[in-house]
Order: sequence, then structure tokens, then C-alpha cells
Amino acid sequence: MERRAKAITSILFLEFLLLHNAVSQQTFEESAAASTLKQEPHHTHEVHCSRERSRAAWQIIEDYLMPFVEEEGYQISTKCRLHPDNDLFRDQEQHKIHLDVNEWRCGYCKKSFRAETFLDQHFDNRHYNLLNVNQTKCLADLCGALHCDFVMGSKLLKTKCNPAAAMRNRHLCESLADSCFPASQGPSASRLHELFLHQFCDDHTCSGKRKPFPKGGKKQINLLYMATSILILMLLPLFYLLYYLYQRDMKTGTQVLRRVSQVGRKAKPS
Ligand SMILES: [Zn+2]
Repeated sequence: MERRAKAITSILFLEFLLLHNAVSQQTFEESAAASTLKQEPHHTHEVHCSRERSRAAWQIIEDYLMPFVEEEGYQISTKCRLHPDNDLFRDQEQHKIHLDVNEWRCGYCKKSFRAETFLDQHFDNRHYNLLNVNQTKCLADLCGALHCDFVMGSKLLKTKCNPAAAMRNRHLCESLADSCFPASQGPSASRLHELFLHQFCDDHTCSGKRKPFPKGGKKQINLLYMATSILILMLLPLFYLLYYLYQRDMKTGTQVLRRVSQVGRKAKPS
């Protein structure tokens, strides 16, 4: 009985590990890439814009804004700093070919790399001339407004809230809402303007708990859906296994009882 209980516990543990692994694989890869990036030798040329933070900002736009923009069928203008043309690294990022877990290829010269960070380095070293160097095109500069630190899990969140910084971020956030979704562009722009303020700007305050993106986004829905399906798929065989063990237990239990009662009957003096 004890051995069976141990077996069941280890199966449960294994299932948990598998599930946890599947869900956190993406975040793990991202954080691993971020940690190796810090160890790479630093290359200096004119570009003073963080590729990593620009990527985080882009991901936030993709996950928490674009689903709503697409739903409205709205076209963001190039005057808006969130437009793809205003991301310094967009062209390079789109020339990343992810062939396998450990294989990344440069879309310009077809050279292969073991990790995304090496490809990033390659872009910095070999293709930096393709970067459109322009101060206003750094998406990382919008990170304060877009909550990059929250998404990247940076330590900055644990430090005390700075009212001046919160105010600055709020102003930047509101100016983005105004330039990207001007009310003069019609009802869908007005609706998106409201949504943008609620989704990104309302949270730039030092009062209350931090919780950006109250409207949710693409990633959350996908992750929840994926986790639920994996959980059901994994728990189903476990359920059958437990049911089988239970049934077998009942059978041997009644057999033992029968044997005991038979022995008892025989031993009874008549
Ligand atoms: Zn290349």
C-alpha cells in the first residue's frame, strides 16, 4: 500500500513538472537570453538604444494593444511612435529565422547561430549599417509608459514608487494615446484612445497596487487555453490509473475478506 502511494505521488510530481515545464518554457528562454546578454562583450557604435528593451516594448504592443487595434480595423499612422516603422530594430528582428530551439539564422546573409543572443551580436557587428539611426525611433524609450519592467520582471518594481517618475511616465503614456489615436480620426480612434489610457496609462500612479493591462491581451488568453488543455490531457490518464488501482484494491480486499471468512468458518468448532 505504501509503495503504491509513493508511486502515485511520484506520478503526480512528474505530471506537475511536465506541465510547469511546458508553460514556463517560453519565459525561461527569454530570461536565459537576457542573462547571457549581460555577459557578452560590449560593442560601441552610434546606436544608443537597447535592443532587449525595444523587443520587450514591441512584444507588449503586440500582446496588449494590437488585438484591440485589429478588432477595430484601425490603421496606426507613422506619426505614432508605436508604428513598426518607428522601431529601430524592426527590420532586423524580422530578419531572424528561428529554425530550431538551438538554431537561429540571419535573414540577410544566412549565417546560423546557436542562440538568439549570438544573432543579436551578429546584427550589431555585421549589419549595424542597416539600423536607421534616429533618436525618435527607439522603442525602448517608450518602455516607461508601456510597463516593460513589469513584463521583464525587473528589480525596479521592488523599489519604492517614485511619484515624479510615475508622473513622467503618465505624461508620456497620454501623449502616445493622443498621437496614435487622435479623436479626429473617428469613433474607432476614440474608442482605442480610451482603451489605451485604461490599459497602459491609468496604472502610472504611486497609489494602490500595480496592475497594468487590466483589459488583458493575446498572450494571457493563449497561455490559459494551452495550460487548460495540457492539464486535461495529462490528468485523464492519471484518473484512469487511479481508478484502475482503486478497482484492483477493492477486488483483492474482498478476496482477502472471503479467505478470512472461509478460514474462520473452518476453524469454528461445530
Ligand atoms: Zn548576417
